Amino acid sequence: MTRPLTLITGGTRGIGAATALRLASAGHDLVLGYARDAAAAEQTAAGVREQGVDCLTVRADLLETAGIEALFAAAAECGTPTGVVNNAGATFHIGPLSDTPVDVVRRTVDLNLTSALLVARAAVRALSTSFGGRGGVLVNVSSGAATLGSPGEYVQYAAAKAGVDAMTVGLAQEVAADGVRVVGVAPGIVRTDIHAEAGEPDRVERVGPKVPLGRAGEPAEVADAIAWLLSDAASYVTGTTLRVAGGR
Ligand code: NAP
Repeated sequence: MTRPLTLITGGTRGIGAATALRLASAGHDLVLGYARDAAAAEQTAAGVREQGVDCLTVRADLLETAGIEALFAAAAECGTPTGVVNNAGATFHIGPLSDTPVDVVRRTVDLNLTSALLVARAAVRALSTSFGGRGGVLVNVSSGAATLGSPGEYVQYAAAKAGVDAMTVGLAQEVAADGVRVVGVAPGIVRTDIHAEAGEPDRVERVGPKVPLGRAGEPAEVADAIAWLLSDAASYVTGTTLRVAGGR
């Protein structure tokens, strides 16, 4: 039996890294994409390999078309993928839309929606039986922001993630007959570096207590949901996004 082979974009830090470790424990070989932080990539890869599976890290900027092509070409060298976690994303900036620089609005939509669409396109070509693949699962990492709208924080990010949810609905129907399930997870506030990188390191402490469950989520709690969606236990689940947001 060959092991499942799963590609995770942004698989080296935060939710992606937790997902890598969770999937490694379930026997997946992994390809982990990242943009800049090589030390984090090596640390996550070492944790994955300790669990007895193979792991390749690939530095490739998803804001470049060539980066997406390079990532999937590297994965193809490892075998025929069975899963793709479309996870890389960023909020970049916190504040009202009217005060958000134009280039930040464009970059936010570019990474969180356009790159997510192009990763999904490449994923279908890697997984679909119509393209010579063995079928599989695409998990799109959205956000609770897609339905909350993120007023005063990042409306442009929420709008991009709403686009990701629409993509999950439509693409699932396009490829259902080709052995591919397309699903999403929509995390609420989760303890990762995404908040510090957008300029508010203490956002988890500010927002976490307002969540009905009374706290922020941990990356491993989102990883468990992604692992379930990738598994055969979710074999009749497609075209839907699972909220993992503590009731918010
Ligand atoms: P994170 O800790 O900041 O990690 C982001 C990962 O994406 C890193 O591996 C990073 O690589 C990679 N990445 C960023 N920009 C990239 C680019 N241009 N090309 C390639 N890779 C890139 O983020 P996170 O909090 O885990 O977020 C993961 C996903 O969950 C995102 O889609 C995010 O929108 C979503 N989400 C997060 C939260 C939350 O509260 N944390 C809530 C809802 C949804 P480097 O290490 O090289 O920078």
